Amino acid sequence: MHTSIEDVISSLVLRSSFWAMTISKFNKRETSEKTFLMGVTFNGNDVEFIYNFDNLKMLHLDILDKLFAHEVGHILNNHYVRALEKNIFENNLNHRWNIAADMAVNCNIPNFPKSFYCGWDFHTIFPEQEGFEDGLLTEDYFNKLKEDEEESNDDSENDDSEEKDSDESSEDKPESNADSEEGEQSNNESDDGKDSDESGEKKTETTGSDQNDHTHWEESSKNSKDPNIGYIAENIFREVIESTSREYTQSFGSLPNDLKVRIDDFIAPPKLPYYEIIKKLVTGSRMGKQKISYSKLNRKRMYVFTEDDELVSHIPPFPGKKNDVTFKIGVVLDTSASVPITDDGIYEALNGLESILKNDSNSEIILLQVDTDIREEKKLKSIKDIHRIQIKGRGGTRMMPGLNRLKELKVDVCLVFTDGYIEDLSSFIYSLPKKIIWILPEKGSSERMIENIGHIVKFPVSDL
Ligand SMILES: [Zn+2]
Repeated sequence: MHTSIEDVISSLVLRSSFWAMTISKFNKRETSEKTFLMGVTFNGNDVEFIYNFDNLKMLHLDILDKLFAHEVGHILNNHYVRALEKNIFENNLNHRWNIAADMAVNCNIPNFPKSFYCGWDFHTIFPEQEGFEDGLLTEDYFNKLKEDEEESNDDSENDDSEEKDSDESSEDKPESNADSEEGEQSNNESDDGKDSDESGEKKTETTGSDQNDHTHWEESSKNSKDPNIGYIAENIFREVIESTSREYTQSFGSLPNDLKVRIDDFIAPPKLPYYEIIKKLVTGSRMGKQKISYSKLNRKRMYVFTEDDELVSHIPPFPGKKNDVTFKIGVVLDTSASVPITDDGIYEALNGLESILKNDSNSEIILLQVDTDIREEKKLKSIKDIHRIQIKGRGGTRMMPGLNRLKELKVDVCLVFTDGYIEDLSSFIYSLPKKIIWILPEKGSSERMIENIGHIVKFPVSDL
């Protein structure tokens, strides 16, 4: 019998468990929720490992290691963050998402137990229980579950309580949606699956299935008022995974290949809204030397694909929070550029910075309008002030006056909206502000003059 959670974790770390090593970095919170075993969530600041030691201590270390792998698997699959992005909690689709997430995780853990005893018979979830194949994406399982559900709803049209079950109608339909899913989807693997016509509101809390390890996801998303919680969580998850894999390699040698691939994937997220990229760059205390060399943007979905792993992996969520120093963001508008810098484009691009302005009273944006010289200098208190800006100037283009001014003002980062047809900056390279992010329209711009200076983010331009 184990004596404490620390005891469990260190025993497994001694057996070179990557999973236990990862969990060792989380905040631990013990709960006395009777039917709870363990779960990982994000509390707004830290990753939290929640556990009920009374239940957990009954398990053999081998099982515990698999369960740790399960919890870290959710992080590697970004299940919490993706649930936020998909508005899973708001639409009360968590139950379906939870099952899909567990399917995706469990079938990838070798010899993951089908059940075990921890005070009750705990049955875990596998794709095969629903007749699905292994190795699909969480979204695939999610959609398959939805299809099945719709089919079985068609079959039982007389069941009036659960008939209008669909994504669209679920907004105003709390709980019952999830309950019906549990009844229909996981009957055979959970002893609480009973009969769904009891429609007990508490059903999700009874247990026997694996999903109660996600109950705190919803809680944390609902408790958080920060609209950026997903983004913050993702950054912190990434930091933890990255530092664990570094330490693991130092202590035990290289990671198994498949795990290494997964970790590398996780550390380099494939897509981000482009303003998030700008935000990450802005808030980055350590910007890499590389630029975002190739960023494709799609106006409608605003996703950007970056090849730059380094860039996004080291960046803490908010600037100036720790040291409580002012954080100055300089923005240069190249008003001579033949790009629609005044339309919603620039507003959108800067929108990602709104939360910084709001949440960090020490931050400010200084906006310069520049053509051949500075035409206006203005402090913005809110991103909305952008709309009140009158565009001044329309001459040729020289960026140095603006950049010099920002250097003088000691800004922490500069965002330059331009088409890139500017003077040759190569001889000024040492007198430029340190961190420059060039924001160019996707079409009709040139990177030639700025190629080796700072970062380049492409900006979507609507076809007019
Ligand atoms: Zn789970």
